[in-house]
Amino acid sequence: MKNPFENAMTQLDKVAKIKNFDDEFIKKLRQPNRDIRIFIPVKMDNGSVKIFEGYRVEYNNALGPYKGGIRYHPEIEINEVKALAFWMTLKCAVAGISMGGGKGGITVSPKDLSKGELERLSRGWVRGLADVLGPYKDVPAPDVNTTPEIMAWMADEFAKQSGYKEQGATLAPYQISLKHSNSEDKEWLKNFGAGFTGKPIEKGGSEGRGSATGLGGFYVFNSLRTYMNLPEKCNIVVQGFGNVGNNAAKTFTEHGHKIIAISDSKGGIYNADGLDIEKLTEHKKNTGFLSGFMNSKNITNRELLELSCDLLIPAAFENVITDKNAGNIRARAIMELANGPIAPEADEILFKKGIPVVPDILANSGGVTVSYFEWEQNLKNEHWSEKEVFAKLHSMIEDAAKKILQKSKESKTSLRMGAFILALERIQAKTISF
Ligand code: NAD
Repeated sequence: MKNPFENAMTQLDKVAKIKNFDDEFIKKLRQPNRDIRIFIPVKMDNGSVKIFEGYRVEYNNALGPYKGGIRYHPEIEINEVKALAFWMTLKCAVAGISMGGGKGGITVSPKDLSKGELERLSRGWVRGLADVLGPYKDVPAPDVNTTPEIMAWMADEFAKQSGYKEQGATLAPYQISLKHSNSEDKEWLKNFGAGFTGKPIEKGGSEGRGSATGLGGFYVFNSLRTYMNLPEKCNIVVQGFGNVGNNAAKTFTEHGHKIIAISDSKGGIYNADGLDIEKLTEHKKNTGFLSGFMNSKNITNRELLELSCDLLIPAAFENVITDKNAGNIRARAIMELANGPIAPEADEILFKKGIPVVPDILANSGGVTVSYFEWEQNLKNEHWSEKEVFAKLHSMIEDAAKKILQKSKESKTSLRMGAFILALERIQAKTISF
């Protein structure tokens, strides 16, 4: 199996064959602008010092400051981060936001750390990279295994590294209504808080950020349901029960669709009559497992992906549908809420089988779009209501979906290639000649 970056470059080669982009532009896009590796010393609770490896890939900033999440995972390595940073570049372009693409990570199993160790590690990542971060340079956000609390630690550390404390100011708690916040809060938000998105609301986070990726996926689904030839109410299978999978499952069930199977890293469960996602969330909270949930049958992640359903939503990891299992997929359509879940060879197989795939760079762009809103609110010292955030998100997603569909029809190609064409045209237009 190819690594995610090789997959991403195969996709780039493919679009370059479909559409006549400038050769030098495509050549430049085969490498990130910067690819940084750091070593982070962390004092462990037992007094020893452990060194962790961290990354930040700043892929492309033709459209604006680098933007992209930070992933904590024991198996993360540079090629995965590079691929994710490349896809972020395209995703921001597709979403129509003035930001470039980046991604970061730490090779760590966060479940093995105490809260104190996790905080020291997260602050260490920022210390190692403070020179290249900032609201107008590079704006990280949460991804797999990183949370709003981690973003708050990071923003705080970034302010300290930038000398904020030395100026004598104290970090006053941010008030939900900025009318009541003091000038120090406003200054902190503009200069440092805006450098990280996905923060808790009381630290300047945006309303609606937590559910944005899942909700955005639902808006995309509505825009493309007719194209996918799906019924009004669908039977849906979701892989992943984290931020994205859980929120997507909740949103779809709230709108009358049925989630017939769902999984996490330990395995999945199935009920043809539909799962109660609220109760399942409670069950997982209490037991730590999805298995054992009322009226459901345990299944493996492999079985889950091959279930017959209207819509399959991979919302966990990359490379889960490859040439090994693509032929067995029985979903009528697939929507990628995870990044890179379908390998390019599998894409070809699915295309030939007539299974439409809504690509990640459109399907999960709700998260980065609301992250962009958070950045904008922080810079302007504003705080928008959830209603306002979702209305803006809805209209941007509908617009992106419409344009991508049009591009894919014009070039008689897949939605993924349509999305790549739209993104690359926008990036090329802002790329200075070298
Ligand atoms: P998360 O850490 O909150 O959840 C990940 C989920 O995947 C967990 O339920 C975990 O148990 C499950 N999982 C892990 N390994 C698995 C495996 N081998 N098989 C099945 N399930 C497995 O992460 P998240 O934020 O929900 O991100 C999920 C995906 O969505 C990632 O690809 C991420 O890059 C992408 N994404 C996230 C956001 C966001 O806003 N959080 C935005 C865009 C894209």
